[in-house]
Amino acid sequence: MLSLFSADIAVDLGTANTLIYMKGKGIVLNEPSIVAFDSTTKKIVAIGREAQAMVGRTHRDIQTIRPMKDGVIADFEIAEGMLRALIKKVHPSWLPSRRIVISVPSGITEVEKRAVRDSAEHAGAKEVHLIAEPMAAAIGIGLDVEAPVGNIIIDIGGGTTEIAVIALSGIVNQESIRVAGDELTLAVMQFFKRNYNILIGERTAELIKCQVGSAMPLEEELMVEVKGRDLVAGIPKTIEVSSVEVRDALADPVNAIVEAVKVSLERTPPELSADILDRGMMLSGGGALLKGLDERLKLETNLPVHIADDPLTAVVRGTGKVLENLSHYMKVLIKSRRY
Ligand code: ADP
Ligand code: MG
Repeated sequence: MLSLFSADIAVDLGTANTLIYMKGKGIVLNEPSIVAFDSTTKKIVAIGREAQAMVGRTHRDIQTIRPMKDGVIADFEIAEGMLRALIKKVHPSWLPSRRIVISVPSGITEVEKRAVRDSAEHAGAKEVHLIAEPMAAAIGIGLDVEAPVGNIIIDIGGGTTEIAVIALSGIVNQESIRVAGDELTLAVMQFFKRNYNILIGERTAELIKCQVGSAMPLEEELMVEVKGRDLVAGIPKTIEVSSVEVRDALADPVNAIVEAVKVSLERTPPELSADILDRGMMLSGGGALLKGLDERLKLETNLPVHIADDPLTAVVRGTGKVLENLSHYMKVLIKSRRY
């Protein structure tokens, strides 16, 4: 029998970004989780960065969607198509990957796990392992997840904020809320509509959030020029706003994230609380980059707060580490029933 070359991969199928790690190679793909498809033929016309450039600029026949919503697969067929296309991109030889380790939100149901597993299998995997995102983030950051010591991870992605206390290779308690990067972006869009009668696109709102958004007063407040469509005159218009206003706009979702962290801390068993008091909490995911969020959490909880190095890749780096050392990490993998 011919022995075919097959590469094992680790995937972080995020609501905002999908990253793929290839065994022995490292991160080989990092693209937005966006698909553009022809609404009449239902054929995918673009994925990732190429599809992202089309968002808000499509016509009647082309639609862009984000198949992973709120951290789970919202559109099964399209998600599968996206995963398959992305794997094909890193694997042009078109040989199926034998093994896939794939990270999933810690709070998802059996049915949702099954959907992820099926997608991976349909995309060619013979062996699929699931790992909880906060666990993957902790491993990616380099925390010793096996030790009898508590660590708290807060992963703020596009769709969900996941807060998990980890010890002895397991998740002791976890909190997952559907308030994260997308809600912050939406808050910026709503702010301009309500206060300036200006309609701005999602991409523009996200840029504003990343450039001048904050969770605490900045040492030097910033100004930003914003282009949108005036709702009254109906024509394009440019205005200037300050980071102070954008911070106000973000207040509600930021408060929701802070509250969820506090609830999670209240639910933590005392021995682990003591560990966390010494070690502090670790932030990962793109939302960790919101200016002043670390300081704000420090202020509200009196705990040390650290932002992971390269927070956007923490989950895939951890998932990759698990792939490289599968037998070692068997304990941290999610046992998901097969039907
Ligand atoms: P997911 O795991 O859901 O795919 P990511 O961890 O990739 O999410 O994070 C994506 C989110 O992080 C997006 O909502 C994006 O707007 C946000 N983000 C990225 N960079 C920044 C930044 N500098 N400031 C604030 N938010 C950011
Ligand atoms: Mg993520």
